[in-house]
Amino acid sequence: MARLLFVHAHPDDETLTCGTTMAHHVAAGDDVHVLTCTLGEEGEVIPADLAHLEGAPGDPLGPWRREELREAMRRLGVVHAVLGEDPASGQLSRYRDSGMAGMPSANHPRAFAGADASEAADLVAGQIRAVRPDVVVTYDEHGGYGHPDHIQTRRVTQAALAALSEEERPSRVFEILTPTSWAREDRGWLREHVPPGAGLTLLSEDEPYPPAVVDDARVTHVVVDPAQVGAQSRALAAHRSQVSVHDGHYALSNQIAARLSGREGFALIDPATGAALGRPAARHTAGVGGAGPGKAGPGGAGPAGAGPGGWAPGLMGETDA
Ligand SMILES: [Zn+2]
Repeated sequence: MARLLFVHAHPDDETLTCGTTMAHHVAAGDDVHVLTCTLGEEGEVIPADLAHLEGAPGDPLGPWRREELREAMRRLGVVHAVLGEDPASGQLSRYRDSGMAGMPSANHPRAFAGADASEAADLVAGQIRAVRPDVVVTYDEHGGYGHPDHIQTRRVTQAALAALSEEERPSRVFEILTPTSWAREDRGWLREHVPPGAGLTLLSEDEPYPPAVVDDARVTHVVVDPAQVGAQSRALAAHRSQVSVHDGHYALSNQIAARLSGREGFALIDPATGAALGRPAARHTAGVGGAGPGKAGPGGAGPAGAGPGGWAPGLMGETDA
């Protein structure tokens, strides 16, 4: 049994970006944990009956989203915690959602993006020591799509990992990335499957992608398990204030359709430094004139069990140890 810890910025990020992977590992009997850094107080509320929570004095959206997270993780079978929460004193979180880049909420005294990085890293390191995961997963250096709290989550997690001793440090750390080929396919799929009257925006393959959509060769590991889309969708539906969930797709408050594809990509990074480690196949053959990143295709130099993109399956596969 492996233990995995996913570190995320706001309630819903964990299920949006890693829901298939978490459900996949729970189904495999692994012990899956989530650490959420803020309560998402700056979130944009979708349902009319919850509209009063958005931007209201006293941040009622924070405790509301804490309960949404609790229910989502119950549905997935995942153990969860919020950074700096203290049930004894009733404190629900240490840091507040900073909002999108350029918003006045970034100047709030508890804004996570402005947090003292070493203090926040100490809290994350404490959680890693308590959970003792084999695997830690968080965002790439752009925080997936550039949100200041997501960038801070990566920075603080990296600092926490660097501060751990060798034996405290998990053996594998991943950043969340999506192969461009998948992102393009998903937009085509959405145009075929989202009903025209649904009121959702459909992007074309040629419109810009967020920074976490990268060249296929940068992705080292994938979880492809479409059977978990149901579990991911049920968990996502618990984040009712933020997400509308449909058959095989969802939308946030921007009403842009996004696919629930049952596949998620990752890149292995150095647990101590955060540097990219490249593909297992490339590492195996390095020094013997072997394939560089991107060369390990089907029938190529990939390890047994590597997928069609040369990607290693799962986050704990034995083929790439
Ligand atoms: Zn977020």
